[in-house]
Amino acid sequence: MGTLLSRSLAVAPAAIKAARQLVFPGQCPGCGTLLAEEGGLCGPCWRETPFILGLVCDLCGAPQIGPDDGVRVHCDACRALGRPWTQGRAVLDYSGGARRLVLAFKHGDRLDLAPRFAGWMAARADPLLRPGMLAVPVPVHRWRLLGRRYNQAAVLSRLVSRELGLGHLPDALWRRRATPPMSAEGHAARTASLEGSIALMPRHRSRLAGRPVLLVDDVMTSGATLAQCCLCLLDAGVPIVNVLVLARAAQHA
Ligand SMILES: [Zn+2]
Ligand SMILES: [Zn+2]
Repeated sequence: MGTLLSRSLAVAPAAIKAARQLVFPGQCPGCGTLLAEEGGLCGPCWRETPFILGLVCDLCGAPQIGPDDGVRVHCDACRALGRPWTQGRAVLDYSGGARRLVLAFKHGDRLDLAPRFAGWMAARADPLLRPGMLAVPVPVHRWRLLGRRYNQAAVLSRLVSRELGLGHLPDALWRRRATPPMSAEGHAARTASLEGSIALMPRHRSRLAGRPVLLVDDVMTSGATLAQCCLCLLDAGVPIVNVLVLARAAQHA
């Protein structure tokens, strides 16, 4: 068994996954129930977790009403705000069981949830992928990093980039100052409070120029933070930025 495990660690991710499953049967990330298959949820948790399916806004990934016949649609909020990125997708609607799971990951040290989340995100990323794409996470301020110990967006972007075979630049962007966490403030107020709060790490400018970027975050609310990140990247000569988030929260007016 030891030989099988150590040998598979040096080979394909699929083999590692299979070996892990052999030793540690999957547990439901919502309630801990043992599952026959790794990477999913148990029946009750599955029903409580709102996955976004069907027609979505091509910019923010919010669910839309209508048939999904391949025509790109934009939601009212995205049309009104004019997003600086090109396309975006989200896995979960940030409510119910999804909200509990994401909060546990963000504040409860449930790092074990990351591979499942990243797997779901990678499965959703198909329309966003471009040749030579780099994955870049939304940064957190170092003070917040001290309290939380890890940047959950960077954890996700690392796993997503691995799963999709993309390059990864975890510190391409940084926060110049701490900004208030997401609150009830609207998009305009949020944008004003974020102005200039995110910057490009100068040493990465040459690596980013000409490369499409997949910008990764855990939750999108107003989209103002993603927009700030996107503008920094475009300014550095990135030709196209697409956005992949784990969860899309309902919009504030
Ligand atoms: Zn469960
Ligand atoms: Zn939208």
